[in-house]
Amino acid sequence: MIKTGVLAIQGAFARHAATLSACGAEVRIVKYRRDLEGLDGLVLPGGESTTMTKMMGYRINYEDLFRFAEKNPVFGTCAGLILLGRGADDARVRQFALVDAEITRNAYGSQKESFVDDIPLEFDRDNAFHAIFIRAPRIQSLGNNVRVLASCGGFPVLIESELHLGATFHPELTDDRRIHQYFIQKIKEIKNGKKQST
Ligand code: GLN
Repeated sequence: MIKTGVLAIQGAFARHAATLSACGAEVRIVKYRRDLEGLDGLVLPGGESTTMTKMMGYRINYEDLFRFAEKNPVFGTCAGLILLGRGADDARVRQFALVDAEITRNAYGSQKESFVDDIPLEFDRDNAFHAIFIRAPRIQSLGNNVRVLASCGGFPVLIESELHLGATFHPELTDDRRIHQYFIQKIKEIKNGKKQST
C-alpha cells in the first residue's frame, strides 16, 4: 500500500487526507519531522504560504521538508504549489524552488475574485474537472522539465515534473478523485523505478 503524508501545519489538510484514503492510500498526518519517515509521498495543502513558512521551525523545519521533497514525490496545491515553486518574490514566503515554475501569489485578486471553472485534464480529456480557485496563484512561466496537465484562461493550472505535481486550485474540495489518483499512480511508477516522461 502506498503511504502518503499530508502536511498539517496550516491549511486545508483534512480533505486531502480523506480523498487519499478513498483512493486506497495509507495516510499519515504530518506535523513533526519524524512523521516523514517511511512515507512514499507527501501533499502540501492549500492555505496561506506566508503562515506555513512561519510555522516551519516550530514542529517541522523548512530543511526537513526540503530534504524529503527533493527526493520524493510531492503534490502541492495552491499555497503548497507556491512553496514547491520559485519566484514569488515575497520575503515572507520561503520557497523550495524544486519545481521550475515561476509563481505569482494572489494573482487573480482577493478572496472575492475566487472562482470555479471546468477544465479538461491532459490525462482524461473526456470529462472536465470542476476546479475551485481560492485566492489562487498564477504560474507565469515554466522550465523545460515541467509538463502542463491542465490550463485555464491561457495559464497552466496543473503541472508536473519528474517527481512533483502542482495545482493552483483545490482538487480536494470536490468529490472527483482523478487528480489524487493520478498522484498515487505517479508515486507507484516512481517507486517501481519507471522512467517518467516529462
Ligand atoms: N493566497 C494564498 C497564498 O498566497 C494561497 C491560497 C490557497 O492556498 N488557496 O499562500
